[in-house]
Amino acid sequence: MKCFYDPSQDAVGLCRSCLRAVSQEHLVDLGKGLACKGRCETDVSKIIMSMETYHQSIESNRRSTAKLENALKVQTKVGYGNSVLACVLGAMFVIAGKASSEIAFMFYLGLALFVYGTWRAMWITAYRKAAASD
Ligand SMILES: [Zn+2]
Repeated sequence: MKCFYDPSQDAVGLCRSCLRAVSQEHLVDLGKGLACKGRCETDVSKIIMSMETYHQSIESNRRSTAKLENALKVQTKVGYGNSVLACVLGAMFVIAGKASSEIAFMFYLGLALFVYGTWRAMWITAYRKAAASD
């Protein structure tokens, strides 16, 4: 391929802005892209800068997502812990309530805790499934 600016010379690369084939003499290497000397340097610099910004934002998003996933895992563990605690407390109150003469309050408090713990565990499981399917 010949140089766009001087057909007597062989082209050694393509300008990243205008995509013309250019010889060594009419080319500037800007590190991450070639540019037509004195013509496309500013445009190629802008392209390189916007690509770097783009890659930085992708990397930043990736890190945010990883942090969010970790937070979700921790939240899930804490949530299950709370559910189990509520169920155990609920079961204890139900058992104690059954044995006691003051049945009603402890029994229903225990039942409520037990139902709450079970409901929380089911909710967390459904939430995890929904999050995993995204
Ligand atoms: Zn160019």
